[in-house]
Amino acid sequence: MAYHDAKILERARSLIEAQPSRRLIQLEVLAAVRRNEQWRGRECLNLLAPEAPTSPTVRALLASEVGTRAAEGHIGPEGRWFAGTRYIDEIEALCVELLKRLFRCRYADHRLVAGMIGNLAVYSALTRPGDVIMSLPQPAGGHSSNRSNGPAGVRGLRIFDIPLDASGLAIDLDTFAQEADRVRPTLVVLGSTMTLFPRPVKELAQVVGPWGGRVYYDGAHELGLIAGDQFPHPLKEGAVVLTGSTGKTLSGPQGGVIVWDDDALTPALSEAIFPTLAATHQVNRVAALAAAAAEFLEFGKDYMAQVVANSRALARGLSDRGLAVLGAEKGFTRTHQVIVDVTRQGGGHNSAARLERAGIIVNKNLIPKDRVEEWDRPSGIRIGTTEVTRYGMKEAEMDRIGEWMAGVLNGTRDPDSVAADVRHLRAEFPRIGFCFDVN
Ligand SMILES: *Cc1c(COP(=O)(O)O)cnc(C)c1O
Repeated sequence: MAYHDAKILERARSLIEAQPSRRLIQLEVLAAVRRNEQWRGRECLNLLAPEAPTSPTVRALLASEVGTRAAEGHIGPEGRWFAGTRYIDEIEALCVELLKRLFRCRYADHRLVAGMIGNLAVYSALTRPGDVIMSLPQPAGGHSSNRSNGPAGVRGLRIFDIPLDASGLAIDLDTFAQEADRVRPTLVVLGSTMTLFPRPVKELAQVVGPWGGRVYYDGAHELGLIAGDQFPHPLKEGAVVLTGSTGKTLSGPQGGVIVWDDDALTPALSEAIFPTLAATHQVNRVAALAAAAAEFLEFGKDYMAQVVANSRALARGLSDRGLAVLGAEKGFTRTHQVIVDVTRQGGGHNSAARLERAGIIVNKNLIPKDRVEEWDRPSGIRIGTTEVTRYGMKEAEMDRIGEWMAGVLNGTRDPDSVAADVRHLRAEFPRIGFCFDVN
């Protein structure tokens, strides 16, 4: 198993050694950032499901002075270790209150530097080592957060699979009820990296309720769809905690949030966040998150409705051109994601590489028929429409993109010629929408 690519590190070392001055070495860093900005930022169609472009205001806040300040602890003079935080208190209070409005909930926390850390906070607050949890297996979209090789494993939990139906996309409720009764989970974890349709939160909560089991929803991907009212709200359906990544569909800075309603959970969750898992919590990120939350309150509903309309249009376009899009019998998707089985097109790795040559960025993805041991050679690709939607593209553009993707994947179009079409389309949509900025 390889970790960092030795050749790429070697190239960086020779660049550093070849430069006569440190200043020129710094310029090498800036140049690589600019190359990425030009290629990924201006010339590609970024269809990676976890990505979203931030508004100019949000992006500027990430570089603000407040990002150099230290502010551990809770909001207010009593809860801080450091003096000098009076304006930081204002920023953080605005962030918390905006998040509470956005998620229509009683409590929200803004201090998690990643969704993954939010999940660890939930496990430290709501479980003890040795407890049983049930979560989705990786080929059905289960994230390492909730499996043995992530925070759930680090907490020493015993992890059982949530059983799925024959399609692998939906939970088999009868088998779940039997299995849950046998293993008696403390927590059932929903939410996944591959999310096409809502999950039966209410039904699962009813099954595990009798022995005090609870449902926890890791909404990393769906967070924006939930805030924008395009996806069922897990807390309203019986989940006790919702975590998520703020840089995915929510389209804010990368980071994590955690929201809940029940007073009784507040001490354990608050202490798991501070002092257990967050110290300096990046106040520039918090300011950017507050600004993104204000945007989302104003524009989130329209933005997310178009995201879902676009993913459905793209799925239809791919399916009509002969690709095996998952979820066809249920209208393909109700989220920002489209999942395609590309076994016949050479597999996920190969397909993503060919699309990259065409300037179309997607990721290889496990699909339910894959075995987890073959994680590096999956049969699927995952596509997301958040970014192209924020740039103003609609169903007509999705159809063109679907045609190009199908052409590249089926071998009827040369990726380099598609790359030119992609650049032209991207240039027609230069502005970031669903925000207050004129750009
Ligand atoms: C992306 C993702 C995470 C991790 O979130 P980060 O913010 O990247 O740390 C956790 N759970 C699920 C289901 C995810 O898709």
